[in-house]
Amino acid sequence: MPYCHGNDLERVYRHARDGEYGFFASNVVQFDILVGLLRGADRVGSDLVVQINEETAGFYGDGDPQAGLRAFGSYLRELAASKEVGVFCNIDHVRPDDEEFLRACIQSGIPSSVMVDASAEPFEANVERTRRAVDLVSASERDVLVEAELGRVAGEEGGVETSADDAFYTDPERAVEFVDRTGCDLLAISVGTQHGVASGRELDVRPDVARAVDDALRDRGLEVPLVVHGSSGLTDEQVRAFVDAGVRKFNTNTRYQYEYTRTAFDYYRDHEDSIVPPDGVEGRDTLYSDADWSPEKAHFHPGVAAEEVRTRLADVMTELAELTGSAGQSRYARS
Ligand SMILES: [Zn+2]
Repeated sequence: MPYCHGNDLERVYRHARDGEYGFFASNVVQFDILVGLLRGADRVGSDLVVQINEETAGFYGDGDPQAGLRAFGSYLRELAASKEVGVFCNIDHVRPDDEEFLRACIQSGIPSSVMVDASAEPFEANVERTRRAVDLVSASERDVLVEAELGRVAGEEGGVETSADDAFYTDPERAVEFVDRTGCDLLAISVGTQHGVASGRELDVRPDVARAVDDALRDRGLEVPLVVHGSSGLTDEQVRAFVDAGVRKFNTNTRYQYEYTRTAFDYYRDHEDSIVPPDGVEGRDTLYSDADWSPEKAHFHPGVAAEEVRTRLADVMTELAELTGSAGQSRYARS
């Protein structure tokens, strides 16, 4: 059923806080990933947060991020309409100095939340830029939440590369000051995860830091949901520990990219003989020529491998929603 906005999303996060569960917020770099995630969330009765960044919007718009955002929004809204869970769209990692795109996102009416990332800036500049984005949203009177980030997460995101040496953990008292002064609705913190490919087993992840930040915020009555970026490599135990520590949103992108490619790759490899001609048959004109061999449409039709991808991503979403506890919690779900 619904494709929802900021006030609904705020309620969903509050419900997650009270019920002590969380969500995997899923970056969608390709439309079959989106279809799979929607199916999986619908199947287990979990609300779904999907997200794109400017780069992905540019990909959808063939170089025009604003056109890509509108295309994505339309597609998402139409598909979400038939689902019995809440579906939300977050814009991930908007550079606060890119006010044109930020304004376009807010005015589009598409996102339920936007993430403005000035975490590479010194503290005061981060506060100032985040505050400015919050003011921009308030002035627009659009129903959009603002996620901000304090701390430095290692890896590459939005063209900014942070080395493991430059990354650091979020300080709880700084987090209180940051939320108080910026008025942000969600806070991404740095707890040892990495953007991109990373195996959780090799990371020094710190649920205790998340717990300390959450406690400090609650003590001051600033109950903003905590967000962890770079969650793809986390083990199940690490995810559960972060949920217990107060994290409500886990940003994931790399995992879905790999699932997509691996699933399509396995399919094509398993059906190579139906797609690629044997030795001695040349060229791509075997469909039209009178060669003895011709490819099989049942295997080369793009929708066939795509359906495998959708099925796999639905299963992944199901697993993740069960892991964080969001399965069965949607207030929009069938009774
Ligand atoms: Zn991120």
